[in-house]
Amino acid sequence: MSNEHHNDNATGGGDLCSLLRGVEEFTRDIFPNNRDLFKSLAQGQAPHTLFITCADSRVVPEMITQTQPGELFVCRNIGNIVPSYGQMLGGVSAVIEYAVAMLSVRQIVICGHSDCGAMKGLMTNTTNAQDMPAVTAWLRNAEAARSVILTRKLDGAATATALVQENIRLQLMHLRTHPAVAARLAEGRLNVQGWVYDIEHGTVTVYDDASGSFQSISAAQARGLPPETR
Ligand SMILES: [Zn+2]
Repeated sequence: MSNEHHNDNATGGGDLCSLLRGVEEFTRDIFPNNRDLFKSLAQGQAPHTLFITCADSRVVPEMITQTQPGELFVCRNIGNIVPSYGQMLGGVSAVIEYAVAMLSVRQIVICGHSDCGAMKGLMTNTTNAQDMPAVTAWLRNAEAARSVILTRKLDGAATATALVQENIRLQLMHLRTHPAVAARLAEGRLNVQGWVYDIEHGTVTVYDDASGSFQSISAAQARGLPPETR
C-alpha cells in the first residue's frame, strides 16, 4: 500500500476507486516481485497456523506476525469469539474444523486487541438487541468474561484491558471444546495460544496458562512451547 493510499484512508477518503487503484498497484508493482511465491500458492495451500482475531480494521495478522501469503489461515469476527462446540455451529466452527482436520494446522492463535469495540460494547451495554440484534446475540459468547471482570471492581481503563484478556481466556476454553481441536491436543499435534495486540505500542502479550497471566513476547519465548508440542 502506498503512502498516498494510506493518507486517503487516514483522512476518510477511501472509496471504491482508491481500492481499485490499490489492486492495479498490487498487480503492477507487488505481484511481479513475488511471482514464484504466487505460482506455488496457485497449486494449493498449506498454512501452518489458524489465526482467529477481531474484524477490527486496525488488526492486520500478516503485518503483525510478518508472515507471507499461504502461512496463516485467518478467521475474523467481532470480538475474536469462538462459540463453544454445539452451541452455535456456524462459520467459526466450520473454519476450525477445516483448518485442523483438513489443513492440519500445527497451531491456533486467538488474538484480541486493545481498544476493542466489541469488548467496550459488552462492558457498557452500548449494543442493544433493538438496534443490533445480531451483534448483541453474538456477544453472548463472551458474556462469561464480562461476569468475571465485574467481580473485580476495577476502574475504567483497567476494566477494558482486563475484559480483553479475560475474553481470550474464555475463547481458548471454548476452542478446546471443538472435537477436532481436542483430539489433536490429546495427540500432541496441536498448540493453542492466546494473544493480545496493543495497537498503540505495536506489541503483543501472550497468555501463560501456568501463571494465568499475560506475558511479554520475550518471556513467552523463554518459556518455550507447551509440553504437547515439544
Ligand atoms: Zn475488536
